[in-house]
This record gives sequence, structure tokens and C-alpha cells, in this order.
Amino acid sequence: MVKLSKRLQMIAERVPAGSKLADIGSDHALLPTYLAQQGVIVFAVAGEVNPGPFEAATRQVLECGLSQKISVRSGDGLAVIEPGEVNVITIAGMGGSLMASILEAGKGKLEGVTHLILQPNVGEDHVRRWLLAEGWKLDAEAILEEDGKIYEILTATAGTTGDKSSQEALYAERVLPGGVTVTKERLLQMGPYLVEEAPEVWFAKWESELKKLAMIEGQLKLSTAEASTAKAAQIAQEMKEIKEVIACLQKVKP
Ligand code: SAM
Repeated sequence: MVKLSKRLQMIAERVPAGSKLADIGSDHALLPTYLAQQGVIVFAVAGEVNPGPFEAATRQVLECGLSQKISVRSGDGLAVIEPGEVNVITIAGMGGSLMASILEAGKGKLEGVTHLILQPNVGEDHVRRWLLAEGWKLDAEAILEEDGKIYEILTATAGTTGDKSSQEALYAERVLPGGVTVTKERLLQMGPYLVEEAPEVWFAKWESELKKLAMIEGQLKLSTAEASTAKAAQIAQEMKEIKEVIACLQKVKP
């Protein structure tokens, strides 16, 4: 039995029983291997674009005797699956921007896919924007810390026509219990459910993100170029809004 990290374990827990899964960017195929061993999935495609991880995935599946259940395929993003072949897709451990571009490029392959379980390492807003634009329903957000790193897991289901207005409402500017207004941009960035739940680790994430933004702002301020000045002002505004949201939620926390 393979053992998963806390992060992969949390992703595994979100895969519905009986799924036909595609794990894109599967690396050592740990996630589909674990799910097959646990009897959660009936079939999986482990997709990999790079030869090293593709070989590692192939070896893993062979060594675990799972070649009948897991098909390891070499290719870019969703190019490794046929429309209607799977109903659940997991993509984990890459940037949100790459993840959104993989989903966008593979839109035609999403027929029959009911669940997307996405764990971007950075740039979660790109993923939320793509889900919203493409009519997917963001059902839940989870956040965890492992080995000093913080990860978010976004779970979405294929939206129906009625979900469009509920998704617009999810990201609509709202006033937090402490009286601060949180904009659509900040909800896309900080997570509409995470803002609501405000777990401890989420505060830690935003403290750390603020430090990174302050460093970028400092660098930009060294330049006199108009574009740098404008970007620095934009980041200053972003930091101000994030700080207000955090301070407000910290105040109302029981
Ligand atoms: N999903 C595993 C996890 O979360 O532990 C592995 C994450 S690993 C950091 C990212 C993997 O994505 C790498 O093995 C890389 O080769 C693969 N990858 C990057 N871009 C890809 C793409 N366009 N299509 C398929 N795989 C990709």
C-alpha cells in the first residue's frame, strides 16, 4: 500500500467512490495508485508530460500490479484522455495559471466530467476565475499546512444553468461581520469559502503573502518607470484591502 502525504491524502478524500479518474501531472502516480488500492476508483488515467515522471508513474503502477486499472499516458494536460472517458479530474502540485491553461486547452475533453479537484500551489485566483467563467460550481475550499508550506484544495462540480447566478452571488462584493467590504477581486484571490471560514492556517498564509507583496512593492519603488510606479500603487491597494479583511476577521473570531 502506498502512503500519501497529508496534502495528497486530503485530495484523495475528495474523490467520490466509484470514480473514473484522470490525474493530470501525476508524477509517481501516487494518488491513483492509492485510490485503486483503496478500491475508491474503478479506473484511472495517470497523465504526465515529462519523460522522468512518466517513467516513474509507469514503474509504480507496474510494481503495484495495477496495470489493468491505471493507464499511464504521456501527453500534455487533458490530451491524454478521450471525451467521456473519465468523470473526475485531479490536478495537483502546479501553479494555478498553468492549471487554468490546461483546463482551457482541454475544454473539449470535459464532457462527462462531474468533479474537478484542483490543488494549485500558487495563483489560486486563476483557477477560481476559470471555474467561474466556464460555469463550474465551486463547492468547497480546504486549506492545510504541511512541511512549512500551505496548500489550498478547490473542489468544483459541473454547473447547471441555475448555478450561474449562485456562482455570481458567491463572488459578489459582501460586507463581512466586522463591517469591512470584501470585493470580488479579493474573493477570487482569498477564496469565497475561506473568507467565510477563516481558519488559522489561512491567516498564516495571508501574513506570508503580505510579506511577499511588500517585497515586490519595495522592488518596484526602486524604479522611476511609469509602469513600475503604477504597479506599485496597485500592489499597495491590494495589500491595504487584504490587511483590512484579515484585521476584520481576526476581530470577529470567537
Ligand atoms: N500531482 C503530483 C502531486 O501533487 O504530488 C505531482 C506534482 S509535480 C510537482 C507536477 C507534475 O506536473 C510534474 O510531474 C510535471 O511533469 C507535471 N506537469 C506539468 N505540466 C504538465 C502538463 N501540461 N501536462 C501534464 N503534466 C504536467
